[in-house]
Amino acid sequence: KPPIIVRDFAAALGLKPFKLISELNQQGGFASMNSTIEEAVAIAVAENHNFILEIKHRGEAAEKKVVQEKADPEEEEKRNLESRPPVVCILGHVDHGKTSLLDRIRSANVVSGEAGGITQHIGAYQVEKEGRKITFLDTPGHAAFTKMRARGAHVTDIAVLVVAADDGFMPQTDEALKHAQKAGVSLIVAINKTDVKGANIDQVKTQMQQRNIAAEDWGGETITVPVSALKGEGIDTLLEMILLQADMLELKANPKAEASGIIVESEIDFGRGPMATVIVQRGTLKVGDALVCGTHYARVRAMFDDQGRNIKAAPPSTPVRIIGWSSTPDSGATFRTAKNARDAEDQAETERLRIRQVATRAASAPKEVSVDQLF
Ligand code: GDP
Ligand code: MG
Repeated sequence: KPPIIVRDFAAALGLKPFKLISELNQQGGFASMNSTIEEAVAIAVAENHNFILEIKHRGEAAEKKVVQEKADPEEEEKRNLESRPPVVCILGHVDHGKTSLLDRIRSANVVSGEAGGITQHIGAYQVEKEGRKITFLDTPGHAAFTKMRARGAHVTDIAVLVVAADDGFMPQTDEALKHAQKAGVSLIVAINKTDVKGANIDQVKTQMQQRNIAAEDWGGETITVPVSALKGEGIDTLLEMILLQADMLELKANPKAEASGIIVESEIDFGRGPMATVIVQRGTLKVGDALVCGTHYARVRAMFDDQGRNIKAAPPSTPVRIIGWSSTPDSGATFRTAKNARDAEDQAETERLRIRQVATRAASAPKEVSVDQLF
């Protein structure tokens, strides 16, 4: 019988040898790297780690030991979690500088490609700061955010609330704040237009205090960064604070899973057909994948990043534009991977039938049925 050696067994289980050794010694052994483990003990240890140990015997001699993973999706998922870039949206009152801030961040920090690369407005982009990526939702107003919220989708990790220093909190600022709080996303306040005459940072901080979101330097917990989108001041600090916040949130995703994520926006491109910008939330999206999104489906024919470059794979938090859709999926909707194109089409068809049935039932039902109940 070939012996089961600590070193090999640890590797088969994906454990650090010292962890296995300490585990064995806790059971009263004296294991070391090269000691052998009794079969019964090995089976028990494997069980503890959600593995099944199969030891095949052929005649007298044990032939081989096979370590096979037991189907425990939760454990598997935990093991494969890796940190991912934060997804950030910028909210605030009209004219307080959301677009200016997004443009400033993009032009200064776009993930380096070829010089003069054309940035495409695909509804989201990624920048790099200190070798780490940050994904920004770049959609007009906070329409996309609201839409995703309405669908219960959760794509944003951090909301940057822009407040103009000369204007302070306005109705849409408060509305955006409410949205962000309801969604449970972390908040960073960017006090913009610090360059203008009449800028009053302290007044904004007073208003924050009145709203129970006091700034850090005022004894509260809200990271607050004075910026000028126009002059490009404070932008680096803002990005650093976003990364700091991301660290605190310990954002993780499993890049090995089948891809799923959210539609940011979609349109029909003359020549290339229906296209959609998505953000991958889990797994790695690849060219050739079959996707289903409600009644829409796709076989990913090609993917493009925010600079229009062809890419083959998109890990978690990456915004990509996909071609190969049957029709344009709805922004804010979630997509998932199907087994193959046929399966994706079947699932979309099933969903279409389900919706028709619900609609038919609603039409023949008493009038009190509200739209909310239908969905
Ligand atoms: P949005 O409606 O929130 O997207 O605001 P915009 O980015 O369109 O900005 C509204 C106006 O404010 C534009 O005229 C900008 O040039 C101006 N603006 C934005 N940021 C600053 C800033 O930091 N300082 C100054 N002085 N003007 C700014
Ligand atoms: Mg704007």
